Amino acid sequence: MQNRDCRRWLLNTSGDFTTKSAFNLIRHSKNADKAFKLIWVAHILKKIYVFAWKLLCSSVPTDDRVQGCNIPLTSKCCCCASPKTETLEHLFFEGDLANRVWSFFIQACDVAWFRIHTFKFVVKFWYRQASKGSQKGLLLSAIPLFVVWEVWLERNRKKFENCLGSAFNIIFEVRRCV
Ligand SMILES: [Zn+2]
Repeated sequence: MQNRDCRRWLLNTSGDFTTKSAFNLIRHSKNADKAFKLIWVAHILKKIYVFAWKLLCSSVPTDDRVQGCNIPLTSKCCCCASPKTETLEHLFFEGDLANRVWSFFIQACDVAWFRIHTFKFVVKFWYRQASKGSQKGLLLSAIPLFVVWEVWLERNRKKFENCLGSAFNIIFEVRRCV
């Protein structure tokens, strides 16, 4: 009997190629961070989901990301009394504006104080603060999404429309959404 070489697809035990296994290989679904699932909170506008997803992928065009595309740009954040370089982390979590907004909601929701690091961390942290499926759980899962969305809108109003923004506006809008 003659043994002939043949092609085998290693992602299936049968050795046969399937588009499903190829798709799973490309999208890396098994390694996806849990935060990517947690952002899909019910009753939230799709544009906010998409923005949260872009933020998880670090693809929101803050000044540092624009500079990273070899586009010369002098960065000056519009969220602090003493402007600094606008990075994604600075705008959404570390700057004066973000700090005031997060502090308000941490206190209002009686969430234990924590040092915010990344959006992935924030999404998972707020999700864990209440039991899954409860009304409070739904609320706490949604707040980080509304906060980053409203911070982004406020940043754009300040940057492109020269409006005087404030943490109060963001807090008001987030409270109106939830
Ligand atoms: Zn700033």
